[in-house]
Amino acid sequence: MSTRSSRYLLAAVLLGACTPQSQPGLQPEQLQIAEQLRDRALAGTQAYDLVASLTSEVGHRMAGSENDARGRAWAEARFKALGFDRVWTESVSFPVWDRGFESAAMTTPEATKLMVTALGGSIGTPEEGISGELMLFESAAALIEAEPGAAAGKIAFINQKMERTRDGRAYGQAVIARVQGASAAAKAGAIAVLVRSIGTDTDSNSPHTGTMRYDNTPTRIPAAAVSHQDADRIEALLRDGQTVAISLQLGARVRQGEYQSANVIGQFDGREKPEEIVLLGAHLDSWDLGTGAIDDGAGVAITMTAAELIGQSANRPRRSIRVVAYANEEQGVFGGKAYGEAHPEAINTHVLAAESDLGAGRIWRFQTRFADHALPLADQIMTVLAPLGIERGDNEAFGGADISPLRNAGVPVVGLNQDATHYFDIHHTENDTIEQVNAEDLDQNVAAYVAVTWLAADYNGYFGDPDQTAAQ
Ligand SMILES: [Zn+2]
Repeated sequence: MSTRSSRYLLAAVLLGACTPQSQPGLQPEQLQIAEQLRDRALAGTQAYDLVASLTSEVGHRMAGSENDARGRAWAEARFKALGFDRVWTESVSFPVWDRGFESAAMTTPEATKLMVTALGGSIGTPEEGISGELMLFESAAALIEAEPGAAAGKIAFINQKMERTRDGRAYGQAVIARVQGASAAAKAGAIAVLVRSIGTDTDSNSPHTGTMRYDNTPTRIPAAAVSHQDADRIEALLRDGQTVAISLQLGARVRQGEYQSANVIGQFDGREKPEEIVLLGAHLDSWDLGTGAIDDGAGVAITMTAAELIGQSANRPRRSIRVVAYANEEQGVFGGKAYGEAHPEAINTHVLAAESDLGAGRIWRFQTRFADHALPLADQIMTVLAPLGIERGDNEAFGGADISPLRNAGVPVVGLNQDATHYFDIHHTENDTIEQVNAEDLDQNVAAYVAVTWLAADYNGYFGDPDQTAAQ
């Protein structure tokens, strides 16, 4: 028997409970309090005001920029102002990418400006820019499979389109073009890569930024995204058999050395088992084109507000509620990884984790990643969520990028899935601003988080595999 199992059983005996097979259900009073908290959130919260404050007082929070530090100061001050019992930071370091200037133009068959943005991590072009003919690839896969030299001397244009879905599932596939496009294009001999923006808008002319990565291909080439309207124009000309040439200037660069940022953390301590934690996460950083309102100011506001509603209520739960505003998710989940490394004991202390990072739309589905014995609890939680218009999802919750290290370690996670139908219209563009946020939708999010968080934090049992789950 593992130490964990024996601890679990010891705890079970001490609690006068409950082998895993016979864990208690949630009690009627606990469900009643969850309903009260839910309805209080629906009556109106400060979540919208928090997003407005973050986006107007700090603006964007590009990792490693001046606003990175200002964002951290904002989060610390807010946690304190909201009355969290404890507020602290945990360091996160990473290399800094500077965007610099960016511009592009079509030179053949007509001379016209193109709306482009550098992809995060890209190298710049020589000062005079890079000029060349475009070569069309219908998808990232087509470029990855291209013969070496197939695009020699050309600028590879990846014309992959992204499907609009409520759960955002198309993103994982679409984003390969952005992340892997440059190295795939370099292998094919290209001198730069131009990617149709990873997004679902058709009526804006705003390019979508986002991170890219060079693999170990020795040649590194510049990478940019072009707006959908301009991509449509380019596509039409190429399909018409015309030669399309462009010039591209990018001032992007990676700074020397590492930048010290931090995850900013606030906690309300549990009344009975403060060492056991329900973790709520969102990322504090954003891209720099807009102000990071829906990605992910909304998530920061939702999780802070949900914790605060519980922490300031008369019903302090058994366990602690910890909110983590993660550093630099956008450029490689640096904050999430640092948290996982700083908390190798998480599997024994973190009872449940959830992350809000799919915009500001209403929550429509509740996914779990529970051990089988805990699935009846999900049905009980659903009785509180269903009146919010939320349906039961599967038991395969992803959770979120920042809590992936926890999930991978075996910590149970839930997914309170936001409606992402319109999220990828504005994701990583200049249009990600407070105008995209609806206060009532945010309050519905808070209502769902507050219910799930309260129930998990006050529950007298566990959601995970008894061999792994917290039991001290
Ligand atoms: Zn995000």
